[in-house]
Amino acid sequence: MKNKLNHSYGESAAALIEHLQKRKNVLWMNPNRHDQVSLLFSLQDVQKAEKRLERFAPYLEKAFPELEEKKGIIESPVTQIPRMKEWLQEASGCQIKGELWLKEDHKLPVSGSIKARGGIYEIVTYAEKLALENGLITEAENYLAFSGEAFKTLFSSYRIIVGSTGNLGLSIGIVGAEMGFRVTVHMSSDAKEWKKQLLREKGALVIEHKADYEKAVAEGREEAAKDARAYFVDDEHSHELFLGYATAGLRLKRQFDKQGITVDEKQPLYVYLPCGIGGGPGGVAFGLQLAFGSHVHCFFVEPAESACMLLGLATGLHDRISVQDIGLTNQTEADGLAVGRPSGFVGKLVEPFLAGSCTVHDDQLFAMLNGLNETENIQLEPSALAGMIGPVLLSGQKELGKKPIHLVWATGGSMVPDEIMHKYIQKGRDLSADCLKRNP
Ligand SMILES: *Cc1c(COP(=O)(O)O)cnc(C)c1O
Repeated sequence: MKNKLNHSYGESAAALIEHLQKRKNVLWMNPNRHDQVSLLFSLQDVQKAEKRLERFAPYLEKAFPELEEKKGIIESPVTQIPRMKEWLQEASGCQIKGELWLKEDHKLPVSGSIKARGGIYEIVTYAEKLALENGLITEAENYLAFSGEAFKTLFSSYRIIVGSTGNLGLSIGIVGAEMGFRVTVHMSSDAKEWKKQLLREKGALVIEHKADYEKAVAEGREEAAKDARAYFVDDEHSHELFLGYATAGLRLKRQFDKQGITVDEKQPLYVYLPCGIGGGPGGVAFGLQLAFGSHVHCFFVEPAESACMLLGLATGLHDRISVQDIGLTNQTEADGLAVGRPSGFVGKLVEPFLAGSCTVHDDQLFAMLNGLNETENIQLEPSALAGMIGPVLLSGQKELGKKPIHLVWATGGSMVPDEIMHKYIQKGRDLSADCLKRNP
């Protein structure tokens, strides 16, 4: 049976833009893929990031009791979800070849989203730099010392500023405040009220903007430039965030090794990553490419109204084009993905190895949110379901390998208050799962 959702594009950006404007489910296969990884970062950079996180593990274990069991290492489980695979097949009418797995970043400790990887890494990197400069520690000492008064006093004279649609602010706010920094978070209009409230409870200063994410980031950047003791976490350009995300790749390989799962030519790995500005999925994809080489195929997934990375990649214009330029609204319930202009550095970095990119509709997100809750009893926020459309869109492709593993990257949800999660599920239940069949 022909997969009606499936629209592939290689050469024509004009045809692609037309389909984006019609809000089709788009699947774009990257014609520029040649598996050359990156000139900007190397395996050593990612290994250094892992080492830094290991140095901080004793401190993190003490600061966040939930990390005790894992000895201060912030990582999430990877789980097979066979019942959801059946649900997806039934709802979409598509045959999904191979196994369906979930990377459960919604269970990441401390901040409950993929932002726990990049955000926490960037803050500890900055804290380490300040502590080394001020002679409070050497790299050979035990970093448990970071919970001491001298460190908190030092950090309290510095500010950390960040612009966010929500989850990055949460991650930076929670860790920054715990270490002793004063944290200011510029939130975009689409940020959820409960995320703002939680941040205020953690002691962060929340500044709300009527405009979208791009403006919130610009405001944060401007404010930081005026203050010599202020550090700006730059979601668009940050190399630290990127490297923090990238550590996921080597770790996933070790997790698969432990479970006896080999990724190779016969059993290739297809990974579907929800994409906002691109740093999270870009960093993870980079790490996966380092770990699995040409046997991993990473796809970004964005809401149809916010398909900024796809637009930047397909036109080659990267951050010189926004979704508003082609008449899309950047309005979506997937608040973590409500970004209208992609990171330029990430787009250029992933271009040589990314397998492709696709779009999803808000109603499909809610239908799948309900499906995952019913079949596997797993609760995610709408953004975190984006990857789930990937295996459906790819099902029309011929050469997926003999026994493909589809890995959907679940990026957030465990901090959503119960009554809001209940509303999400209800909304998904009220929608017909038929939205996974037609191409609206
Ligand atoms: C931030 C976020 C993403 C995407 O990360 P970007 O770095 O913005 O591309 C995906 N899912 C959730 C839940 C997020 O909060």
